[in-house]
Amino acid sequence: MRTFRTDLHIHTVLSPCGSLEMSPGNIVSLANQRGLNIIGITDHNSTKQCELIWKLAKKTNLTVIPGCEMTSREEVHCLGLFEDFDALRVFQDYLDRHLSIIPHNASLFGYQVVVDQDENILEELDYYLGAALDVSVEEVEQKVHELSGIFIPAHVDRPRNSLYSQLGFLPPELKVDALQISKLAEETAVREKYRIGSDLTLVKFSDAHFPDDLGKTYTIFEMESPSFAEIKKALKQENGRGVKIP
Ligand SMILES: [Zn+2]
Ligand SMILES: [Zn+2]
Repeated sequence: MRTFRTDLHIHTVLSPCGSLEMSPGNIVSLANQRGLNIIGITDHNSTKQCELIWKLAKKTNLTVIPGCEMTSREEVHCLGLFEDFDALRVFQDYLDRHLSIIPHNASLFGYQVVVDQDENILEELDYYLGAALDVSVEEVEQKVHELSGIFIPAHVDRPRNSLYSQLGFLPPELKVDALQISKLAEETAVREKYRIGSDLTLVKFSDAHFPDDLGKTYTIFEMESPSFAEIKKALKQENGRGVKIP
């Protein structure tokens, strides 16, 4: 079995709260420099910057998993990760249909731009990506799984925008592939506080919005190869695969 430093929660220039230095080129070179093997691109309620980062990373040893950080109707943040761009496009259509349209004030909340590899602005979004979708967390989970994606509620121990802060519990019918805990959280303490059994995998990712945060927080995935199928198996702790929070 091989080990892979994995961070599946990273924001880009496209997120209103993401630094303008989080350009596709910068993210790929910093992730490589800092020893990450697999990264996930998860902007708020949009997937529009994923494909370029995936393309740039292909020339290197870095694996990029395209995805998104969704805000459900209950204001729960959750990650959706996808195997390919066919699934991602269908999911982007879903986001376009369900995101509440609130005009975006860039000077107040930060720029939301899609850039090319030379950091030229291709598109500036005039609706706020931090708004909520008009669907429940269960509906979002079902859509992600319908597209054979991976569904991970984000930073579950945080006092805002988390599964436990918004719902108070993990709904038994919600099919989560893992739970992401926040940067400073301690796995054992989170398991105890929320009574999370060892059959449910916990992961820690950076939730990086700034270049400084990249590479500092990750989870070690133990698996055969850096493929989407292997990531799924590692999260399920199948056939000797697994994850370790360092
Ligand atoms: Zn979040
Ligand atoms: Zn985030």
